[in-house]
Amino acid sequence: MQTSQQTDWIKPPFSLPQTLENFIDGQHQPALKAQTLDLYHPASGRQYGTLPESTAADVQFAVEAAQRAFPAWAALTAQARSAAMLRLADVMEANLELLAQAESFDNGKPVHVARTVDIPRAISNIRFFATAILHTSQEAHDSGNGVLNYTLRQPLGVVACISPWNLPLYLFTWKIAPALAAGNTVVGKPSEITPLTAYLFSGLCREAGLPPGVLNILHGSGASVGTPLVGHPQIKAVSFTGGTATGARIASIAAPQFKKMSLELGGKNPTLVFADCDFDTTVKEVARAAFSNQGQICLCGSRILVERPIYERFREAFVARVASLKVGDPQHADTAIGALVSKAHQEKVLSYIELAHAEGGNLLCGGEVLQPEGLEGGYFVSPAVFEGLDPWCRSNQEEIFGPVVTLFPFDTDDEAIHYANSTQYGLAASVWTSNLGRAHRVARELESGIVWINCWMLRDLRTPFGGVKSSGVGREGGWEALRFFTEPKNVCIQF
Ligand code: NAD
Repeated sequence: MQTSQQTDWIKPPFSLPQTLENFIDGQHQPALKAQTLDLYHPASGRQYGTLPESTAADVQFAVEAAQRAFPAWAALTAQARSAAMLRLADVMEANLELLAQAESFDNGKPVHVARTVDIPRAISNIRFFATAILHTSQEAHDSGNGVLNYTLRQPLGVVACISPWNLPLYLFTWKIAPALAAGNTVVGKPSEITPLTAYLFSGLCREAGLPPGVLNILHGSGASVGTPLVGHPQIKAVSFTGGTATGARIASIAAPQFKKMSLELGGKNPTLVFADCDFDTTVKEVARAAFSNQGQICLCGSRILVERPIYERFREAFVARVASLKVGDPQHADTAIGALVSKAHQEKVLSYIELAHAEGGNLLCGGEVLQPEGLEGGYFVSPAVFEGLDPWCRSNQEEIFGPVVTLFPFDTDDEAIHYANSTQYGLAASVWTSNLGRAHRVARELESGIVWINCWMLRDLRTPFGGVKSSGVGREGGWEALRFFTEPKNVCIQF
């Protein structure tokens, strides 16, 4: 642990817990082996606390608690589960500012982003599935001749929900909410890099009176606790969001055990800008799509394809817009770009900036390590725009997941589609045009789970969310998520 002097130096505007604990059977407790990992404040680079480095022994303990809680939770009426979840959402709402401050502190994102995007969405996730479950129905098939089939959708049992660091509480609750609403009990594992809001959330679950064991939260690294969680024989399904390589490792453990899996993985998303777009809005929104959350959203558009007649005009306006984005203290209201999440991630982003140079890219702006006053140890990188890179070079093919984008021109719709589809990924794309026919045609041709037309990251929680190719398997959101977390059973009666 660090000295209190260092923690004082950081001065978070909330009461900062320095020793996080697991949440098992409604109780906070350290990892059984008492090992810990260090926690860092990305805006200053200072260590501020520790989290448990849980192991297979903690997994066993948490799974047993979830198994004990399952029969009673699954037997509740949908109305009763819904009411319990709505109480939890209300308690979260009452703590919105605390959660927003903690998310910004732990992740490096501007606090106004956590306050207006991350935490409201985390609350909406709980409310959405708490109410969706009241509107589900199960199918019946009248087969004629006195035969009736109906389908029961039953909860699976104990499920694992594993989430990444970029939208910590937002993505954690996106998985937990449908799992709980459908009657499962959960062992959740947030990212070890940003566990703070999941820890605070566990306290709120207790405050809201969620029955012990219904939701258990284990902290620690993927290797130490994620792997045994995925492989535990009593875990019936794994809902995972994170990197493609991690998803492949998880699938290699879960698939031979025939577990259900929902894998939301990486992206290298194309943004297609046509000459007939609404120019000013497009420049502004494409910059937002590129650099929101420091470019650390799986949906960020990092390959910006621009139709040649407007290429130079777009480049000039886009670079001016990006250069005007203020990089700095996540606490400041006018900060557009906060700190990257970790030293290791900052190094990864900088190595890709070096690679883009080596591959012949021309840096139009940004790409520098910044040291805002008072935050000299923080992980800040100014948003970088490159041009002149071949669509098939590594900088245009590999996920950077940071504030680095490339611009390149195209001449025809087919060429734009060809470039857009040229990576192993297929998560999200955006298309900017005033020609509706073209918009629909291009949307059909893009190999992508999500296509936004003249907008970006407009989310309706009822829609299927997920990617194709190496961006994932399965869909989250709405009925898709409730179907994932239930097992259909056909009952056939002759009467
Ligand atoms: P990551 O894959 O390193 O880690 C994600 C989670 O998996 C963490 O909780 C981690 O501890 C855990 N984990 C790691 N190894 C594991 C293992 N062997 N078994 C079980 N769990 C394990 O990803 P990250 O660096 O936290 O997040 C960034 C990645 O997430 C990017 O690739 C990004 O595109 C992706 N992402 C995808 C979506 C989506 O919806 N498709 C959303 C957000 C982020």
